[in-house]
Amino acid sequence: MSNEKVLEQLKKQHEDEQVFYHTCWQNGCWDAACIVKSRVKDGKIVAFEPDNSINKGAGREDVGDEGFNQGLIQARPCTMGHAWKDEMYSPQRIIYPMKRVGGKGFGNGHFERISWDEALDTIAEKIKEVIDLYGPYSIIHTQYSFFTSSSFPLGPYIKAGVACWGDHSTSGHTAGEKFHLGYDLVKAMFPTEDEPNPCVGYEAPDLFNSNLIVLWAHNPLVGWFGQVSYYMKLAKEKGIPIIVIDPVYTMSAEVLADQWIPIRPGTDLAMMLAVAQVLFEEDLYDHEYVAENVEPEGFAKFRNYVMGGEDGEVKSPEWAEPITAVPAETIREFARLYAKSKPVHLQYHYGAAKRHCGEYSASMAMLLQSMTGNLTIPGGCETGCTLVTPSRLPIPQADFQKAPPEYTAPVCLNNNKWAEAVLLREDYEEGKITEDEYRRAIGCPPESPLPNIQMFVFENNWLNNIHHVNKRLEAAAKVHFSWGFGWHMNQPTAQWMDIVLPGPVHMFETTDNYLLNSQRFVSAPGGMRNYFVYSQKAVDPPGEVRAREWVYTQLANRLGVGDKYNPLLKDVPWEKWDETIDDLYRQAYEEWANDEYGMLADLGIEPKPWEEFLKEPVVRVPIEEPYHAFKNVL
Ligand code: SF4
Repeated sequence: MSNEKVLEQLKKQHEDEQVFYHTCWQNGCWDAACIVKSRVKDGKIVAFEPDNSINKGAGREDVGDEGFNQGLIQARPCTMGHAWKDEMYSPQRIIYPMKRVGGKGFGNGHFERISWDEALDTIAEKIKEVIDLYGPYSIIHTQYSFFTSSSFPLGPYIKAGVACWGDHSTSGHTAGEKFHLGYDLVKAMFPTEDEPNPCVGYEAPDLFNSNLIVLWAHNPLVGWFGQVSYYMKLAKEKGIPIIVIDPVYTMSAEVLADQWIPIRPGTDLAMMLAVAQVLFEEDLYDHEYVAENVEPEGFAKFRNYVMGGEDGEVKSPEWAEPITAVPAETIREFARLYAKSKPVHLQYHYGAAKRHCGEYSASMAMLLQSMTGNLTIPGGCETGCTLVTPSRLPIPQADFQKAPPEYTAPVCLNNNKWAEAVLLREDYEEGKITEDEYRRAIGCPPESPLPNIQMFVFENNWLNNIHHVNKRLEAAAKVHFSWGFGWHMNQPTAQWMDIVLPGPVHMFETTDNYLLNSQRFVSAPGGMRNYFVYSQKAVDPPGEVRAREWVYTQLANRLGVGDKYNPLLKDVPWEKWDETIDDLYRQAYEEWANDEYGMLADLGIEPKPWEEFLKEPVVRVPIEEPYHAFKNVL
């Protein structure tokens, strides 16, 4: 076939297509906001593509050092980002509200289609009923009732709901949380007046300042923070050596590693202690940095322990070898290279940190970075798993004029203990266990009211993505009433609800905000927050799928708090819903573009008119000097 013919056919194929820009935030990459472009034809998304709002006509690989250093590169979604089309158009998709008839769980009972009115009336009645019967601490909302907060959108106005503490810690204490992540993520996510910018992450170009990158239980090339993983590959191309320590020969080991050190799963702490022992024995640690930044008494105790003063066991590489299956000589050589390569980017990640007691090795990783003076310097790394970095540009904010919250949910349990909260409640009420025992079992602080969880509000497939699944299913079957959003009937969580509402894929099908209250103007992923994108709606949702914010607004109206929850939209019909919200975003953009304080001009941003902006709704600024961990704090 001639070139002309091929071109003609391609043009025909793409005729009448519309292009929209989005972020891919529903996958839960935390504050990730990879840019995804969609092509829409006849009301359906026919393709997802990477962003080309910058460096048009050039591959990302050809941008050159200046563009890489300044973070001025195209954003590419990972494989999960590309997979949304299958999710949206799956034949399994739930597209109508449904109610359970019969028992909960697979094989028990079945679902029947109901109208939105029936679904919303029933849910509103059940919310009132649960509060009347069991009190305000009876409702738990997934997926973000953690970090001492509740994500139940109606809670602040109907004055009900419980908050949970903790996130990944499996050791049952908050300290684990902080050790695991390297910092109190609650503060990092929700800055205070005292610490307005407590960011512990690093910007991707800072990797170029490293002399050595160590990826410990970290496989960044698979579904992780957009551009940062690409910068790891660039760092390799620049000749920065990379060591991967992982029991598995991962894709990152294959593509990035100059050396792969396989290790027996769960023995990372032993290898780290042996590395510290070499640093002490050969006097390779950074005395000046330690004297300035490390608490001396604790450090002396730690040294005593490592050198065998406490238990007679020197934590040498020979001691670690039979535990870790890493040859002593490999550990010793690694320790020497690590000590002499400053700055070292040692990143210790979820693979090891999220296992039982993983916080011990996570905190040990930070201690190693402190001993070698790498924790807080350009090219170093705080080792934890978060990439929270400051935003480089002001971002428009729409004002939905919601009333100030009238209720803050008390922190009643650890977020891994909700099944115990349900299952042990009866034992507590029957006097089989004391209040103190009940509190201890669920992590309820002494000053908090006891929860009596009788309603689950599910906004994710919570029941099978956590440990102790059978216990959780038993608890989910036991509560008074459960409802929430479901995407596919074969998701276990849907099978345990009394009413399942059809879940939107909200990046592409609605104008919803993200669960953590990010609006549709979304800042870039942690690690590269030098741009924002206006995440557009591309297609109408299928069947009777509705925006989640529409659902909560209808419930708020039925519960008598619509004027507080969503005053501007409470009476807006579904047919006008998206255009009304778009208009609020337009107003926010125009106010931002007005640049009252000259901040945009200072950054060299020349805002386009709204309609023009919508054609390619991404605004970027160059990174002059990349952010490194604790830069704003120390
Ligand atoms: S890295 Fe996360 S946000 Fe980016 S495309 Fe993949 S799943 Fe989406």
